[in-house]
Amino acid sequence: MTTWLLLLLTGWLAWTLGEYLIHRFAMHALRGRGITSREHLNHHADRDSILEKWFLSWLGVVLVGIALGEASHPAVGFGWVLGYGFYDLHHWHAHRRRPRNRYQRWLRRHHFHHHFGHPRDNLGVTWPVWDLVFGTYRRPGVVRVPRRMAMVWLLDDQGDVRPDFAADYQVAGTAARTPALAARDRDDAFANRPPAVV
Ligand SMILES: [Zn+2]
Ligand SMILES: [Zn+2]
Repeated sequence: MTTWLLLLLTGWLAWTLGEYLIHRFAMHALRGRGITSREHLNHHADRDSILEKWFLSWLGVVLVGIALGEASHPAVGFGWVLGYGFYDLHHWHAHRRRPRNRYQRWLRRHHFHHHFGHPRDNLGVTWPVWDLVFGTYRRPGVVRVPRRMAMVWLLDDQGDVRPDFAADYQVAGTAARTPALAARDRDDAFANRPPAVV
């Protein structure tokens, strides 16, 4: 049982490295070349973008999990898939729902600093260790969010940051997203620049 658990954690750990490397190289470094990069940079450019090809991602992850399991032990493959499920759920949740605990607060600041401050840093989503290992970790500080891209859970009815998040976030600029601004957001995302505050 202990061995099984250790192998499962090994597979999960392997996923976290995959999460970092895929995000850094297959998504950002390729600047829109290939479906994985294009989908991800659209996610940066458009607040409401969701992963349209989620089925393909899951299929790829499960196939790698099966291969890993075959090559080592089924628990390793299972841990890999479980790690992806944890990432997928928490990433979606971070964009769409308010945080409910310290971990979720941490994850949001780490990830939204990546979105709105430094798209080439904080490339791990569910934990920061690979960023620390590879020198891409940045302390978020106060995250400055363009108002047109602000997460719905962050704002109150007046469009200001809710008081419980005021120490961690600021919003600035206009809420209106004109076609020209949308085009600029796309150019910035595909060049790995943070979105402009205008
Ligand atoms: Zn995201
Ligand atoms: Zn990204």
